[in-house]
Amino acid sequence: MINFEYTRVSSVKAAVDALAKNPGGGYIAGGTNLVDLMKKGVTAPARLIDINNLPLKDIEETTTGLKIGALAINSDVSENETVKKHYPLLALALKAGASAQLRNMATVGGNMMQRTRCTYFYDTAMPCNKRQPGSGCGALQGYNRMHAIFGASDKCIAVHPSDMCVALAALNATITVNGPKGERKIVFTDFHRLPGNEPEKDNTLLKGELITGISIPKNSFTKNVHYLKIRDRSSYAFALISVAAALELNGNTIKNVRLAMGGVAHKPWRLTEAERFLIGKNASKENFTKAAELAMKGAKGYGHNNFKLKMGPVAIVEALMKAAG
Ligand code: SF4
Repeated sequence: MINFEYTRVSSVKAAVDALAKNPGGGYIAGGTNLVDLMKKGVTAPARLIDINNLPLKDIEETTTGLKIGALAINSDVSENETVKKHYPLLALALKAGASAQLRNMATVGGNMMQRTRCTYFYDTAMPCNKRQPGSGCGALQGYNRMHAIFGASDKCIAVHPSDMCVALAALNATITVNGPKGERKIVFTDFHRLPGNEPEKDNTLLKGELITGISIPKNSFTKNVHYLKIRDRSSYAFALISVAAALELNGNTIKNVRLAMGGVAHKPWRLTEAERFLIGKNASKENFTKAAELAMKGAKGYGHNNFKLKMGPVAIVEALMKAAG
């Protein structure tokens, strides 16, 4: 790890100003991913701006939904009574992530900002367009078992590793950010981006912007929800495939539905065509199977991850069946 300077700030404005004065710097909160990246030499910010003292830890129910501060700790959110009762999909996804120790350190904002776990990205001896643009992609012809089946490019086939973000994409969350030009909102599904020709860019944050919180609109997905995570071991492992499924049922008829997948793309992958198909239909295995077929349209394997093409539809049907009860 190279030497770096360290500043602790106590207001959003001070944080944004500090980064504006130190363009080679970066924000740090829980540090559960950033410190690893620094130790491995993947990233080397000249200054760390510690934002842990900012007043951004509240979890608050409002008339329109739920507001969560960017510094709320993952385990606090997953154990919050309002979240468990009214936004259970988020609680389930958070509990599926990482390990108990990491969930006790990681913040909501940091969870969104975590970087891919592609092993070539972390190995500085290997080519990686995300770490070093133009150097090539080690995974394309290499060992790509964990990699994307949707939305990849010939520059990068990495996936976003978060579970929490899959639930937030399904729940139509909005992100609030603050930067040199003031505050703005970003629709959650527009925050993470596909790799295209610029895989070094994970998201649509502008230079110097800081995530300050997220909002989830009120919804009726309180009962029939399921977060299915398929992984190599039952804790502390990233998803091979995950599915966030939420149903609003009127008897056996699907009044509303949300579906998103993790472990399959450079961003949480919302299954909008499958959702459209399911609205108004019966909650049956037959309809879930058709929805899964629609969801998998355009999926492409890269060799070692071809198994995801078969696992994907099975996981979607399983998640929907579990959500339907
Ligand atoms: Fe790098 Fe992306 Fe290729 Fe992985 S998949 S080696 S992160 S460019």
